[in-house]
Order: sequence, then C-alpha cells, then structure tokens
Amino acid sequence: MRLYSTNNKDIFVDLKTAVFQGLPEDNGLYMPEQIPVLPKGFFEELKDFSFQEIALNVCSNLFGDTIPMNDLAKLVTEAINFPAPLVKLDEQISILELFHGPSLAFKDFGARFMAKLMGYFNEEEDKELTILVATSGDTGGAVAAGFYKTPGIRVVILYPSGKVSNLQEKQLTTLGHNIQALEIDGTFDDCQALVKQAFLNKELRSKLRLSSANSINIARLIPQSFYYFQAYKQLPDPSTSTVFCVPSGNFGNLTAGLLAKKMGLPIDHFIAATNANDVVPEYLATGTYTARPSVPTISNAMDVGNPSNFARMLDLYSSTWNTMKSEISGYSFDDDLTREGVKEVFEKYNYVIDTHGAVGYLALKYYLNIHPQKRGVVLETAHPSKFIDEVEKVLDQKIDIPERLAILADKEKEAVFMKPEFEDFKTWLLDNIAS
Ligand SMILES: *Cc1c(COP(=O)(O)O)cnc(C)c1O
Repeated sequence: MRLYSTNNKDIFVDLKTAVFQGLPEDNGLYMPEQIPVLPKGFFEELKDFSFQEIALNVCSNLFGDTIPMNDLAKLVTEAINFPAPLVKLDEQISILELFHGPSLAFKDFGARFMAKLMGYFNEEEDKELTILVATSGDTGGAVAAGFYKTPGIRVVILYPSGKVSNLQEKQLTTLGHNIQALEIDGTFDDCQALVKQAFLNKELRSKLRLSSANSINIARLIPQSFYYFQAYKQLPDPSTSTVFCVPSGNFGNLTAGLLAKKMGLPIDHFIAATNANDVVPEYLATGTYTARPSVPTISNAMDVGNPSNFARMLDLYSSTWNTMKSEISGYSFDDDLTREGVKEVFEKYNYVIDTHGAVGYLALKYYLNIHPQKRGVVLETAHPSKFIDEVEKVLDQKIDIPERLAILADKEKEAVFMKPEFEDFKTWLLDNIAS
C-alpha cells in the first residue's frame, strides 16, 4: 500500500511512514493511492461474516501485501474486540451503536486500531516510542485505552486542568502502566502548543523517538470504514435504498463512510449532520467553504469550525462541488432543536440517544421526509451517559451508566500538575522518558 499527500499526489510513502508521521510535511493529509472495490464474493458472503472477518477483508483490500495475513488477522482481532449493533427504531430508522468500546465513543475504533498498528510496526524498532497527545477530553480517553499495555510504546497525555469532565479526567489518569497524564494549568491550546514545540525541539528529537496520535492519522480513519459494512450486514432487505447519517465535527467518521462506498458498499446517500458549526452543510448548499472559529454547543465533540478531513472529502470528489452534493446532503441543528430530538427519540421509541446522535436523528428525519421511500442508519457516536448532565436534564430522569464507566469514579487520579511552560515540559520528558 502506498499513500500520497492531498497537497502533492506525486510523492508516495509506505503505510509505516504515514502512520508514524501522521501528517505529511507539506501539511496535506495522507490518502491511499488506491481504494480497490472489494470482490463480488465478499458482498455475497457479507451476511455470514463476523465483524472481525469484515474488518480483515476491508483492511487487506487496502493494505495489499504490506502486512502478512496472519499478522494482520491478529492485529484486527485485538483491535476490533467490541460489537457495533444495529438497533431498529422503526421500519425506516435504525441506530448504529458505536459506543461499546472502552471510552464509550466511536473514537475507540480508530484509536485501538492505530495503537495495534503502531505496536506492530514498532516491533522492528529497538528504541521505545513516545506518543504525545494533547486532548480537550474525548480523544485522550480513547487513545489512552487503545495504547494501554502496548509493548515498546509510552503515551504522554496533556489535558487542560479543570476543563475536562470528571469522568473524562478519570479515563485519562487512572490507567497507569505505560500511560502518563500531565495536567496542564492552562487551556487545550496551551496543551497543543506544548506538543508542537516538543516535536520541533532538536534536543528532544535526538533523545526520544516521538510520534503523535493525531485524529488525522490514516490509521484512525481506515477502521472507521469497517462498521459501515457491519451495519449494512445487519439490515433486512438489501434492495431498499439505504442512507447513512453521520453526526460530524472533523468529518473523519463520514469520510470513512465514503471509503466504504468506494470499496463497493451500496450506500445510496450520506447525510452530514452538524450542530451550529455548519461550515460543511453551508459548503454543500452554496459551494463556498468558509472556515470560522467554532462555537460551543451541547454536542461539543462536534464543535469544529474548520474540519480537518474536509481536505480528504475534496480529494475523494476531485474538488467538484456538484458531485459531492449529489452524494452528500448537509443539515445543521441548534441546541434547542437537539434537546427536542433527544426528547422525541425517547418519547417515540423509548430509546435514550445522546446529544450527538440526536443531531443525526433530526437530520435523517428531515431527509426521509423528502425521500419517504428510503431508509436510514444514524451513527450513534457516544453513549448517552458520556453527556449525562444534558441528557438527564432534557429527559427529567436518571439514565443508566455502564459498569465500565461507573467503576472509574472510585479510582485514584494520578497526574503530574504542570504550568504551561515548555522548559518544564521538556525537563519532565528528559527526566522521565529519555533513557
Ligand atoms: C469526535 C466525535 C464526533 C465527530 O466525529 P468526526 O469524525 O470528527 O466528524 C461526533 N460525536 C462524538 C461523540 C465524538 O466524540
């Protein structure tokens, strides 16, 4: 498998380079040179394949002979070790639950797969690898859980003190082992700036092998295409046109769906559902893309003003607005409507949906009103208990917290408190990580 940068399609790197580097030097994004259509036999047998078998087929279709089949099978089995069930609300609407992983959000798929892939490629290296991650809350938990106990890899997570939820903080600070949390007395931007400076620092680079676990890493994108096949497999009557509705922020999740379609999955249409941060729906409606600062909402994992994967979407459509808008519709909903969505799903279907999924539900409902002969799948990106305050307030009742989240509350937090000063960060890294 070879990959190019969206900013320069003439230079190729191999998968290992793309995964360890994350971002190409020209600031584009890595894309697979080829996205082959899966063989006909695969689709004929889809119904009989397990989720892991689907993942292995999709993966080897993209990777070619980059990783020997036995190794790839082991890697996929370890990474994709929780289900993605499809829950039917009515004849037209189903929910794909993507929150059955350790951090209760779909990011577990990307983070776990990336961790296993990095661990695999890292076996050829003698020197320990240090992953630096800045998080505003959600991503850090998935990354920490993904890399937990991966041999040869240490993870240092920087998070802004007092600016993540109590349970998010517990997810970052209670694992121990190869996961180290730094509580930064500053903002998320401060955390990100510290990580950036570390990558630019000559002394650190000479003494440590550094990498990032950035959300734009191609190893996080690819596994997100697996569950589109898994959802499709669970649908009755394949002859009905099926649309996928994706609550979106950085648009990695939706872009992975586009990959699945390129690989031959018969997806009729995509819906890009956003909160008030609506630059992509606006682009789809007008043909003009205007990045702007994000605004805070109650579906805060989608508060993105300049989605990083938009460059990949443009690349897949050769920058043609007409083609993109014929395959993707975009709708945006504000917080009041989102709350009504949470309420409606509960009252109508007795199903507790989170605020991100609710945005998706509203968008799908809107679309199905115009296209009543189709059916749709909403990707439910997080468990409602991750956004418990808002959901309980709207429903005016207590909701269940899964055991794996509940037990965190009693665990001891372990984090190193630090001012947002680069010298302090650097000294800490040299004293604690460099050998
Ligand atoms: C990250 C996230 C999203 C947005 O996903 P993108 O791939 O960035 O579009 C939506 N919902 C939840 C719960 C998330 O954590």
